[in-house]
Amino acid sequence: MAAPIELDRPLITPDEIEARVAELSGQINKDYARTGRAVSIVVVLKGAAFFAVDLMKHLDLPTKMDFLQAHSYSGIESTGEVTLIKDVSMPLAGTDVLIVEDIVDTGLTASWLLRHLSGHHPATCKLVTLLDKPSRRIYPVTIDYTGFSIPDEFVLGYGLDYEEGYRNLPAIYTARPVGE
Ligand code: 5GP
Repeated sequence: MAAPIELDRPLITPDEIEARVAELSGQINKDYARTGRAVSIVVVLKGAAFFAVDLMKHLDLPTKMDFLQAHSYSGIESTGEVTLIKDVSMPLAGTDVLIVEDIVDTGLTASWLLRHLSGHHPATCKLVTLLDKPSRRIYPVTIDYTGFSIPDEFVLGYGLDYEEGYRNLPAIYTARPVGE
């Protein structure tokens, strides 16, 4: 059974998330306005699902949507290994791919995904992440759009989980093991 955790006060409130998502989508609308191509939104499951849906609702661009799920084995004994659980099924060649991530931590997953999807020969391949923990970076990665830079704390809510729970919380919370 998962160790119990307790939530702190919200680190990022639903209003702050909503306002930042609107700003990010405004920037994306501007940047892709003149391509004349549909943007291929690739949502990284499961954590980015809430963010991707809210972001897409603000886009006034032609879009297509696909999902990808990867598992990373990082941590002390990191092998730098990423396993693909579900790959995209939509053709991406010649399209503008925008990868939607929940959080970039060591950068292992995001840098791997950028390499993997670039192998599909898109016209462009960019990354938007809701959260970034820059102090944790090990694997360099270029992030094109960042929602919030946050300190090195474990966070959950708004799609991010702890042992598959808490994704439904509308705010983003920091959390710690009970008693710490
Ligand atoms: P990275 O490959 O950059 O080290 O880790 C990326 C993945 O680790 C994220 O997509 C996410 O699944 C998980 N992750 C990293 N930090 C956190 C966190 O604070 N909270 C949650 N819920 N997941 C995290």
